[in-house]
Amino acid sequence: MTLSDHTADAPDPLLQLDKVKADLREALNEAGASSQPPHIIAVSKTHPAERIEPLLAGGHRMFGENRVQEAAQKWPPLREKFPDLELHLIGPLQSNKTKDAVGLFDVIQTIDREKIARAIAAEIQKQGRAPGLFVQINTGEEEQKAGVAPQAADLFIKQCQDEFDLALAGVMCIPPLDQAPAPHFALLAKIAERNGLPGVSMGMSGDYRIAAQLGASHVRVGSAIFGARAAR
Ligand SMILES: *Cc1c(COP(=O)(O)O)cnc(C)c1O
Repeated sequence: MTLSDHTADAPDPLLQLDKVKADLREALNEAGASSQPPHIIAVSKTHPAERIEPLLAGGHRMFGENRVQEAAQKWPPLREKFPDLELHLIGPLQSNKTKDAVGLFDVIQTIDREKIARAIAAEIQKQGRAPGLFVQINTGEEEQKAGVAPQAADLFIKQCQDEFDLALAGVMCIPPLDQAPAPHFALLAKIAERNGLPGVSMGMSGDYRIAAQLGASHVRVGSAIFGARAAR
């Protein structure tokens, strides 16, 4: 791929990333929050390595993918060049993919059921590799969406910690598309706080400012950095 292949509608990801950083600082100032701005996970799903490399070369290290198989093809060569990058799995995890996921990702954000928690614990033992772990919460209680129901969150978090000995780092959510995100973000932050978990992964291109104001530790930003994704 040459530069001319991604033309006017494909923005410079480094410039876009700087804009997102500035937006986050501004949103926190506006809210009178003195907290550190959230980490920015650049969500690179569907985008080829050529679009990702400029960000790595510019010093950015945190990325997100939602499919294990796509990540397995794209990221090992990038990691060879940039061993200190941090790759987050932000899409649903099937139990037959846990081996690959534990081997490939530095953080897995989508633990949402006992079977997956058990399989991840077994892989961590086997591989001697321990990715950071988040539990996905289905704050909107949508039937088709992955994640633990909010009222089941505390118990599931305890089970992960006590029964499976998983060192959880945080919680993540994807609010319903047709609702204001703020109540969902507030709920997620509360679940994190009462369970003593520092990680709060919430906010995407359309709502990362609000997420920052409500206490996100990580925002997951795709199109605002890389431009629109082709349908797949
Ligand atoms: C694709 C995706 C994002 C990024 O979405 P944008 O709207 O492009 O920023 C964030 N989180 C998850 C779980 C995703 O699948």
